[in-house]
Amino acid sequence: MAEQEFNKRPSPDEQPSMRVNSLRELIDLVSGKSIDKNLPEEESGIAESLPFPFLGIVGQPEMKLALLLSLVNPLIGGVLLIGPRGTGKTTAVRSLMGLLPEIERSACFYGCLPEDIESGGLSAVCPDCARKYGQGEPLTLSSAVRLVELPLNARLEDVIGGLDERAQLHERMRLRRGILAHSDRNILYVDEVNLLDDAIVNAILDAAAQGTYTVRRGPLSATYNARFILIGSMNPEEGDLRSQIMDRFGLRVIVRGLAEPAERKEAYDRSHLFRAHPRQVIAQYASEMDLTRHEIQAARKLLPHVELPSEIAAMGIRLIQELQIDSLRAEIALFESARAYAAADGRTRVELKDIEATAPLALRMRRSAYLEGYFKERAQEDETLKTTINQVTQKHDRRSET
Ligand SMILES: [Zn+2]
Repeated sequence: MAEQEFNKRPSPDEQPSMRVNSLRELIDLVSGKSIDKNLPEEESGIAESLPFPFLGIVGQPEMKLALLLSLVNPLIGGVLLIGPRGTGKTTAVRSLMGLLPEIERSACFYGCLPEDIESGGLSAVCPDCARKYGQGEPLTLSSAVRLVELPLNARLEDVIGGLDERAQLHERMRLRRGILAHSDRNILYVDEVNLLDDAIVNAILDAAAQGTYTVRRGPLSATYNARFILIGSMNPEEGDLRSQIMDRFGLRVIVRGLAEPAERKEAYDRSHLFRAHPRQVIAQYASEMDLTRHEIQAARKLLPHVELPSEIAAMGIRLIQELQIDSLRAEIALFESARAYAAADGRTRVELKDIEATAPLALRMRRSAYLEGYFKERAQEDETLKTTINQVTQKHDRRSET
């Protein structure tokens, strides 16, 4: 019965002209793919560093959708994966490695970009880049977005950067770039984000809010770009997340264990197979992974042309107000993810169905029971104040009349 369940959709391998219309369709299609489990032994050992193919993850359509949307549109504000241990959150994030899009980035240590010259003239970039620009040489090169993981034991020094100890050995003072600077235009993955040190959380929040940050050490100071897609994961059993950092995450996914016994068996089989034959399992998904990467790249290209019609925007805002959500980041997350969803569908106009598909991801866990109670109390207090003021002033008025 399990076999039937997973064979009901045709394998994309059997359809060379496969054309999918949206990421969601692709996710559905590949989740139903049956993979060859009778693989010959690989001669090499287990390759620990190879990521499991994203499309080989069984089930979890919401997690997959949220992660793919965040690759299409960095303005969504990243993703928070909330769930118990062993539900494949970290595996899913690492598996994005096979899907990361190409971007243009500065070829210079100082991060100079042609836009800097367009807005601020030649003095806005370093002398080397000014010369290159004059000679018509490119200032950028194309490279894939990288996945940067914040190590669990990272110190503040590692996160923001500090004095370069190796340079100090040679009696020179130099600053070393931190993890946040390395995350610029990349993905920053923070596992167990609820267990991070406050100072590190604050550094990440500040950099994420401004897109840059400055480090000062003695006479030295440097400002770095830090525009990253933040992906976090947390196990709610191990503690809450400060509301300030929760608010920062655009999309929120509740990751539960797989509900269907057949799915659990399939997930077990695939991970077992992957441990023994990583390269062969990767090869079985290679064509769909390529297709997905191209779809993401195409959606990113289309994204700037996707418009949000005013009646759809008005409906989205009504929805947010109806849910009594205060944070303006709710609108950003909802509309930017809806635009990404439309772009992934190959459209240049957001439709109602885009809002319907992304609203649960963008709007869950944005209401605060504490704030609701707090505002209710304040409103009651204001009411009491008003009546008391009226009573007292009217009594005074009457007295002065007589
Ligand atoms: Zn430069």
